[in-house]
Amino acid sequence: MRKDIHPKYQYVIVTCANCGAKFKIGTTLASDFQTPVCSKCHPAYTGKELELRKVDRVAKFMAKLEKAKQLKAGQKNKKG
Ligand SMILES: [Zn+2]
Repeated sequence: MRKDIHPKYQYVIVTCANCGAKFKIGTTLASDFQTPVCSKCHPAYTGKELELRKVDRVAKFMAKLEKAKQLKAGQKNKKG
């Protein structure tokens, strides 16, 4: 192997942002990092749907709806 042309290979800790699982991987990346989904919680491995995401989507929509209502109410108040 030629010297000084290869990135440093090392072990880092990966944390799953969805279920919190931690595992070690060998990589050329410099630091620990997060992954949005892992083999412990991915639907392809668990056979279950990600409830968390479904709830999040509905909650996001409800928040948007609420904000729109407030904006509308605010505009009415300004005019009247
Ligand atoms: Zn996970």
